[in-house]
Amino acid sequence: MIEKGKLMGPLPKRKISKGRRDRRRTHDSLEPKSLVTCSNCGEKHLPHRVCLHCGHYGGRQVVETEEL
Ligand SMILES: [Zn+2]
Repeated sequence: MIEKGKLMGPLPKRKISKGRRDRRRTHDSLEPKSLVTCSNCGEKHLPHRVCLHCGHYGGRQVVETEEL
């Protein structure tokens, strides 16, 4: 008989039930990224980030873009 704790590492005392496992995973799914509409060009971009389409942020152009 193998004495637990001497030859084996620490192990959970009991199996986690399907219900508890599934409840833990309720927060695992990724939520869709929130996007805001650019006030300059109307494209969607991440909030509090420079618009990747036109390079505007805070009502002015802060990054040069190749399209302009
Ligand atoms: Zn834009």
